[in-house]
Amino acid sequence: MRTPVIAANWKMNKTQAAARQFLADFLPRVAGLEGVELIICPPFTALAAVAEGLRGSRVGLGAQNMSEKDPGAYTGEVAGEMLVEAGCRYVILGHSERRHIYGETDQLVGAKVRTAVRHGLIPILCIGETLEEREAGKTDAVNRRQLLAGLEGLTAGEVAGAIIAYEPVWAIGTGKNCDPGEAQRTIAAVRAMVAEAFGADAAARVRIQYGGSVKPGNIGSYMAQPDIDGALVGGASLDPASFAEICAAAR
Ligand code: PGA
Repeated sequence: MRTPVIAANWKMNKTQAAARQFLADFLPRVAGLEGVELIICPPFTALAAVAEGLRGSRVGLGAQNMSEKDPGAYTGEVAGEMLVEAGCRYVILGHSERRHIYGETDQLVGAKVRTAVRHGLIPILCIGETLEEREAGKTDAVNRRQLLAGLEGLTAGEVAGAIIAYEPVWAIGTGKNCDPGEAQRTIAAVRAMVAEAFGADAAARVRIQYGGSVKPGNIGSYMAQPDIDGALVGGASLDPASFAEICAAAR
């Protein structure tokens, strides 16, 4: 059985002070929660404050991006070992905003995933099609391309320990969440691609989240699907009460 995993992607939101305020409200709400893995991914500047605030809790810390390179002359970049030192166990890679606003290619995302795994970080590899690609019937083909490039060079065991987030681009931050049955179909197809490339055991163990306009009111319909192992939550993760409600519904 796969443990469900709910991750907050705060994107470029929350100062250290706002992050501390969030935790003071959020942590008591999820204190007794078991059977679900919880992750908060703040911006780089709030990592240390959130790591401090999460100490002693069961909530894990993740970053939203990292460099594929080792430390050196790369202005503005952050290396894997720096994330590990800051207390991160997870890192979101290949988010559609990184791909579409900052031009990250499938190959770059794959290089980042390999570097993350080399540092013992659990990658949350984001994949998903745009509206145009969906309307052209390319959903599964896009997922296959992003998935295989993103996991290239990993062993079956490393893939089994990774997290994949299927996030249709048209559903992110739009309030137009993907129909849960359609998300199930697409995620089952992604799992079949993992089986084909890395074997049945990796496919049975890898956790695949849905992401895109997840809210307290719709999380239950995703968790009811057999292949959906949790959610990557943007907007609704900024509010402690909403995010706690989503976490509680994911057991
Ligand atoms: P959203 O974002 O929940 O605001 O749609 C999800 C994401 O981008 O991870």
